[in-house]
Amino acid sequence: MVKILYVEDNFQNFRLVTRMLMREPEGYEIIQAPDGKTALKLAAEWRPDLILMDINLPDIDGEEVTRRIKANPDLQHIPVIALTANVMVGDRERYLEAGCDGYLGKPIMREQLREALHRFLSPNGKGKSKPGSNATAAPPPPRLRTAGQGNDRHPPTVE
Ligand SMILES: [Mg+2]
Repeated sequence: MVKILYVEDNFQNFRLVTRMLMREPEGYEIIQAPDGKTALKLAAEWRPDLILMDINLPDIDGEEVTRRIKANPDLQHIPVIALTANVMVGDRERYLEAGCDGYLGKPIMREQLREALHRFLSPNGKGKSKPGSNATAAPPPPRLRTAGQGNDRHPPTVE
């Protein structure tokens, strides 16, 4: 089971997202942290695979919770996706600066949520990629030229 910690003080939102995730075939286990302190405790003890982070929380805000998680060497590999209705200019940049790996605006749409989870939980996207890891990646397989693609006799130079 993929373990998801959802930091959210609004139970309606938690229930909505839980319902979306329960319908997914991957099998998600989702736990709610209703405030920042509980979020930090559960992140350390439960070790989720991914954290959905509401920004407006009753105690420590989601940005600060994220900052503390990302400052902890044991937890900093966990992807954090910010969820918030705040879409003021500069907000997105602030969340990313705090260490959030991604951002989803509220209301949460099922398709966007699913896409974000797949992106951050896929084998390639999970955790931080190590420096130089791209250098060891296998080259892409040669493309077969098929009918209808015969116009580019001189493919563009790859820099
Ligand atoms: Mg909230």
